[in-house]
Amino acid sequence: MVKLNKWDVAVKQNKVSDNTSEEFAWYSSIETLGAVDGPGLRLVIFLQGCPLNCLFCHNPETIPFSTKEKKITIDEILKLYEKNKTFYQNGGGITFSGGEAMAQIDFVTAAFKKFREKGIHTCLDTAAAPMGVYPMEKIEKLLDVTDYFLIDIKHPDQEVSIELSGEGVEHQIGLLKLLESRGQSYLIRHVYLPTFSDRSPEHMQTLGKMIGNLKYMDKFEFLPYHDMAKFKYENMGWNFPLAGVEPPTTEQLAWGRARLQEGIDIVRKDPSQGLVIQD
Ligand code: SF4
Repeated sequence: MVKLNKWDVAVKQNKVSDNTSEEFAWYSSIETLGAVDGPGLRLVIFLQGCPLNCLFCHNPETIPFSTKEKKITIDEILKLYEKNKTFYQNGGGITFSGGEAMAQIDFVTAAFKKFREKGIHTCLDTAAAPMGVYPMEKIEKLLDVTDYFLIDIKHPDQEVSIELSGEGVEHQIGLLKLLESRGQSYLIRHVYLPTFSDRSPEHMQTLGKMIGNLKYMDKFEFLPYHDMAKFKYENMGWNFPLAGVEPPTTEQLAWGRARLQEGIDIVRKDPSQGLVIQD
């Protein structure tokens, strides 16, 4: 019997692409003037493939690793950057999003290295699941060339996180710990989803406790779930997994925010320390 290594198992489980390369990436789409995927205006490359399967995913077309029809190289990305350089140079840069950008780690690391050599600010949008697959040296090489991170915490409770996204929260916590130990700056996002985020008052309190003392978290975004991606699921012939779940009301959001604050207040050692929470 052939013994599979960790990588082969991850490929089989659809956690990473089986064809990653430093030469090119599989991508889904490109946004030339992205304003919400990192600091400033950015060239955003949405890479193809994600090991998670979030019920609220608003880019479901980026989930399969099998849609291998679009490739892009580092030089092609740099050419796109050159076209709109004046917009990006004022505090912006290049972001790899997804899908799960970290699933094509070799390409992202090689590309960020090249971008940094050219003085371009680099940002990685990730839910960190591939942390459980790659060796730590590989992860650290990626961190060495990444200026800023956008990290999704799907749900602070392990079981609910698995139900919601297919993976637990441990890899996201692992990445936060690593960034804190290295003094690297990041933003955390949580999508407030009724029936999941409010399943117990303790859940948002737990999230508050998780973020209350993070030193290098630059911002925390508390984002209301929306169902605008519904039509994408229909076009793909997929069932919309959250049919019947409405976006949160103002009251529900205020309730969640208050629970979050309670958690923060429980653990906060230095209340004067700035913590930017954005809706
Ligand atoms: S991590 Fe992002 S791309 Fe992947 S399934 Fe979840 S929301 Fe979609």
